[in-house]
Amino acid sequence: MPESEKYAHPLKLNEAWLCLDYANVIGWFVLENSADALTYLHLLSWAKQAEVVQEKTFATLQHQAQQHPKKAAQVVQQSLMLQDTIYRIFSTHTANKLPDSKDLDQLNLLLSDTLKRAQLVSEQGKFAWTWSDANTQLDRPLWPVIWSAAELLTSVDLKRIGHCASEDCLWLFYDTSKNRSRRWCSMKICGNVAKARRHYARHKDALQK
Ligand SMILES: [Zn+2]
Repeated sequence: MPESEKYAHPLKLNEAWLCLDYANVIGWFVLENSADALTYLHLLSWAKQAEVVQEKTFATLQHQAQQHPKKAAQVVQQSLMLQDTIYRIFSTHTANKLPDSKDLDQLNLLLSDTLKRAQLVSEQGKFAWTWSDANTQLDRPLWPVIWSAAELLTSVDLKRIGHCASEDCLWLFYDTSKNRSRRWCSMKICGNVAKARRHYARHKDALQK
C-alpha cells in the first residue's frame, strides 16, 4: 500500500475550522506512531484530503520533495511545531488561560511568512484569495492552516472551542450547535463509545440486581 494511502484510511476531518482538523489529525498521527514517523508525503496527503492542495500541486510538491529531501524534512519539523503551537494556544484558551507568549510569537512568525504569499485574484467579476509560488514552496500545505488559526483566533466566538469530553481523546472542536451542547469530537467515535459504556454499565447493574 502506498505511504499516502496508509495515512489516508484513519483520517477524519470533521471540523468547521481547518486549523483544528490539522492539530487533531497530525497530533493523533504523532501519538499513534511518533514524530519521526511523519513524512512529507503524509503531510501532503493530509493537505490533499483536506482540499488544501489540488491534484496538480500535490504532484508538483511531491516531486519537489524528492528533489529536495532536506528542505522537505525541515517542513515536516515545522509542521510538527505548528501542530504543537496551535494545539497549545487553543487548549490554553479552553482552560480559560492566556496563551504563552512564546506560542503567540511563533504563530506570528509563521503568519508573517504566510501573509507574504497571499494574493488577490479577479475571477469572473469577483475577487478571491490565492497563494503565490504555490507549486514550488514545500511549506505550501501549511499556509492555509496558519491562516485558519489566525482567522479563528480573531473573528469568531472563541467560547465555542472545546475539548472532547472523552478521557482518552484530546481533540479540539468548534461547537456549532445552537445551545452549545457539543461534548464530543465526533458522535460516531467518542460519543458512541461513551454511549456503549453507559449501556454496558446499565446492563451490568441490571444483571447484578
Ligand atoms: Zn473525542
